[in-house]
Amino acid sequence: MIKPGKMVRQVVSSTFKKPATTRYPFIKFEMPKTFRGKIKFYPEKCTGCKLCMRDCPSNAINIIKVGDKKFEAEFRLDKCLYCSQCVDSCPKGALETTNEFELAQLDNKKLKVTFHGKPENTIKEEA
Ligand code: SF4
Ligand code: SF4
Repeated sequence: MIKPGKMVRQVVSSTFKKPATTRYPFIKFEMPKTFRGKIKFYPEKCTGCKLCMRDCPSNAINIIKVGDKKFEAEFRLDKCLYCSQCVDSCPKGALETTNEFELAQLDNKKLKVTFHGKPENTIKEEA
C-alpha cells in the first residue's frame, strides 16, 4: 500500500506532467504515413482485371463493369480488414489506402460504399 506522503508527492508531480492521453475527438490524430485506413478507388486507372477481388481475404470488394472499359468499385467497410492486400495486388495503382479511420455508422447500409466517376467526389452511400 502506498503511504499517504508518497501518494501526495505523486499527485503533485502528476499535476504538472503532460498527459499521456490526447483529447480525441476534439483534437484530431495525425495518422502515420503507413496507416491503412479506408480504401480509395481511382476508376480511370482500373482495367477490370479483378485481381483485387480475387486476393481480398474477406470478400469486401466488388468490381462492376458499368460500360466500355468503365468500372465501379463497391466496398463493404464492415467486412474490410484494412489489410491493404487489394492495393498491393492491383497492377494499375487504382487502389490506395487513406488515413480515414472514423468509419463507424449506426446504419449498416452506410457501410457499403460505391466509387464511381472522379475520385474526389465518387463516394455514394447506398440507400
Ligand atoms: S483492405 Fe484487405 S480486406 Fe479490405 S478490401 Fe482490400 S484486400 Fe479486402
Ligand atoms: S486490381 Fe486494380 S485494375 Fe484490377 S480490377 Fe482491381 S482495382 Fe481494377
